[in-house]
Amino acid sequence: MALSCNPRLLLADEPTTALDVTIQAQILELLTHLTRELGTAVVIITHNLGVVARYADRVSVMYAGKIVEAAVARELYGNPHHPYTLGLLKSVPRLDQARKEKLEPIEGFPPDLIHMPEGCAFQPRCKFAVQKCENMKPPLLQVAGEHYSACWEWPKVGQAAGSAAPA
Ligand code: SF4
Repeated sequence: MALSCNPRLLLADEPTTALDVTIQAQILELLTHLTRELGTAVVIITHNLGVVARYADRVSVMYAGKIVEAAVARELYGNPHHPYTLGLLKSVPRLDQARKEKLEPIEGFPPDLIHMPEGCAFQPRCKFAVQKCENMKPPLLQVAGEHYSACWEWPKVGQAAGSAAPA
């Protein structure tokens, strides 16, 4: 229905929630096919990292209402530079890891959006936090090319990511 007006931009907010995997794939393939045919740009909002990996050209990871990392999909999955992105990638099962490998949850809770921390919003949950994270909000910093991370410690995060991220 949304495509019937031939829009230039389509916002798809959780387009596959509550669908089984087969129908999910069919819907996304149809969406991809139609939007390519019509020349429509699509922004998919989802928490499903598998959908993102399969269908997105570019990815923006959001935390507490702000973009914390942005890059082309392959770069973001293979070379994450924000602790939250790294945490997300470590918290989902991977086919290229041994079955006994434990998933790592992101400890703690998201901040109260009415009373946001003075510095980095991820600081109370962050293993990489340093002193200045407590009172200085990191802007989106250029990691390389079109890859940006809102983290003061992005070089250390990139190093630590190592084999944690899918290639
Ligand atoms: S800026 Fe500091 S607290 Fe925020 S994600 Fe980076 S290291 Fe962690």
